[in-house]
Amino acid sequence: MSPNPIQRRPSVAVRIGPIRVGGDAPVVVQSMTNTDTADVAATVAQIAELARAGSELVRITVNNESSAQAVPRIREALDGLGLDVPLIGDFHFNGHRLLTDYPDCAAALAKYRINPGNVGRGEKRDSQFATMIGIACRYDRPVRIGVNWGSLDQDLIVRLMDENAHAATPLPVEAVMHEAMVQSALSSAARAEQLGLARDHILLSCKMSGVQDLIGVYRTLAARGDYALHLGLTEAGMGSKGIVASTAALAVLLQEGIGDTIRVSLTPEPGQSRDREVIVAQEILQTMGLRSFAPMVTACPGCGRTTSTLFQELARDIQDHLRAQMPIWRARYPGVETLQVAVMGCVVNGPGESKHANIGISLPGTGERPSAPVFIDGEKATTLKGEDIAEQFVQLVDDYVQRRYGAG
Ligand code: SF4
Repeated sequence: MSPNPIQRRPSVAVRIGPIRVGGDAPVVVQSMTNTDTADVAATVAQIAELARAGSELVRITVNNESSAQAVPRIREALDGLGLDVPLIGDFHFNGHRLLTDYPDCAAALAKYRINPGNVGRGEKRDSQFATMIGIACRYDRPVRIGVNWGSLDQDLIVRLMDENAHAATPLPVEAVMHEAMVQSALSSAARAEQLGLARDHILLSCKMSGVQDLIGVYRTLAARGDYALHLGLTEAGMGSKGIVASTAALAVLLQEGIGDTIRVSLTPEPGQSRDREVIVAQEILQTMGLRSFAPMVTACPGCGRTTSTLFQELARDIQDHLRAQMPIWRARYPGVETLQVAVMGCVVNGPGESKHANIGISLPGTGERPSAPVFIDGEKATTLKGEDIAEQFVQLVDDYVQRRYGAG
C-alpha cells in the first residue's frame, strides 16, 4: 500500500466502554439500529448483526419509558452472547426524565447522545440539559453533543439571524446557518464543562445533509477546538446515492485529518440488511488507507473481452466468501484483514494486476484458452482448468490464508 499522507487533527481522546475515540486512536466505525428499542429480541438481534459486521459502537433510540426499561435487558442479552459492543442512547425531548427515572438504563449505556436543539426551550432547556449532564457525571459516561441541521436550536438561529441583519456587511443565510450549527455544538460543550463534565468525556457532531455544507461546518468546528468529532452525513439517502454522498463528504474531511468516529446513514432498501452501513463505513476507511477490516478484492469492471458471467460470479463469490470467513479468521489469522485478492477478466491486465495482489487470478477472456493462471506473492503459482475454476481458486485462497497468517 502506498504511504498514507493523512495527518490526523489533534483531538482529546474519549473512552466509550472498551473503545477509545479521538487522540491517537484509529477512526472508529459506528452504526444505529432501526428496531423498536422496546422490542428486546429484535433490537438484540440487530445490534448483534451490526457488531458482527464490525460496528464498534451501536446507537439505539431511547424515546419512551418502555425503551428505557428495555435498555438494561438488551445490555444483559448482548453480554450473554459475548458481545461487549458499547451502546449509545439517543435522547430527544425527554432524555432528562428517562435518565432520571430509569437509573438502570443510564448505567447500561456507555454514552449518551444529546441533541441541543431537542433538549427543551428557554429556561427548561438549561435545566434539562444540566440534568442530563449531571447524570453523565454521576455515571462517568461520555456525551456526544450532536447538533443536527433538521433540529437546530431555533432560539439560537433567531438571535444570529437578527444580529446578521443588523451587521454592516450581512453574511449569506447559509453562512449564518453554518455558524449556528458550530455555535450550538461549542456553546453546549462549554456549558457541559461548566457543569462538571470533563473535556475527555465530550464528543461533538454537526450533521447536515448537503455534502458541501457538511465539509464547511466540520472544517470550522475542527479549527475552533480539540473535541473529538463524530462525522456523518445525515439523511444520506438510499442505494448508490447515499453511499456516494456519504463517501464524498467523509473522504474530504478524513483526508484533512478531521473525524474520530464515523457513521454512514444509509436508508436500507426494503428487506436489505442494516449491516450495509457498517460495511460502507469500513470500506471508506480501508480504501483510504486509514484502517484494515477485511481482505479487499481488486476486480476489473469487465468489458467486451469477458462475455461469460464466470468472471463476475467469481468476483462476487470470493468477496462474499472472504467477508463470511472474517468472524473466524479475525481471531485465528491475525493480519488477514490486509490480504489483497485480485480477480481479473482477461489477459490484458489480468496477470499484471494479479501480481500486485497477494493472490490473484486472471480468468480466460472470450476466445482465450480455457485456463486461468494464478499468481501468489507476485509469482505464477499454477494454472487452473476445468468447470470448477471458482471452487479451486477459493480453496487456494483459503490455503494461502492458513499458510501466511496461521503462524501468527
Ligand atoms: S482486464 Fe480484460 S476483461 Fe478486464 S476490463 Fe481489462 S481488458 Fe476488459
